[in-house]
Amino acid sequence: MNIAEPPNIAFFITWIVYFGIRHVFIKRTEGEKKTLSKMDGVERLLLLAMVPGIMVLPLLYLFSSVLSLADYSLPPIVPWIGLSVLFGSLLMFWRSHSDLGQNWSVSIELREGHELVTEGIYGRIRHPMYTSIWLWAIGQGLTLENWLAGWAVVPAFALMYFLRLPREEAMMCEKFGDQYREYMKRTGRLLPKPEKTA
Ligand code: SAH
Repeated sequence: MNIAEPPNIAFFITWIVYFGIRHVFIKRTEGEKKTLSKMDGVERLLLLAMVPGIMVLPLLYLFSSVLSLADYSLPPIVPWIGLSVLFGSLLMFWRSHSDLGQNWSVSIELREGHELVTEGIYGRIRHPMYTSIWLWAIGQGLTLENWLAGWAVVPAFALMYFLRLPREEAMMCEKFGDQYREYMKRTGRLLPKPEKTA
């Protein structure tokens, strides 16, 4: 049981907020009809592959000692650095859900009346939600002092990111054509594109 350690309590609260945000936006978009869904076997597998890394292993680490063989210890400041990364991740996670509004979905999907969002956090970054999940994965690794509970999320999300991104961008190009291609030129994928100096 590691839940008694202060950084782990803080991690657990952050973790609840993370899934709370997801839950709120799943509920908000529930009624929106989908006109195209690429939720196929690969997508389902990719989503399923995230479950151990982001849910099961952290909970096992916090509430049992079954993963103790993979424990290690870090200077006490490191988990707090991890938590500040997690906090940044939460802000971006919330902001990207909120800016996408009714256009958000958990998989690669288009909704009825889907609009291309190019404002707010999407003004400079095309995939801020994925940036926030990368930050989450790094923050979790730095916070939980266990190889499995901390880091298993990294390869799982890397797989999802690298397999999903080309499909998502291809779908957006097909739907929005030059509008999306122009948008790609002026935005960065995970971080803002550096401003050009004249
Ligand atoms: N890749 C984005 C969104 C992830 S949610 C990010 O990381 O922030 C996935 C869904 O968002 C996709 O199915 C797609 O339909 C939708 N989407 C992605 N970018 C969008 C945009 N700029 N405007 C509207 N919808 C978008």
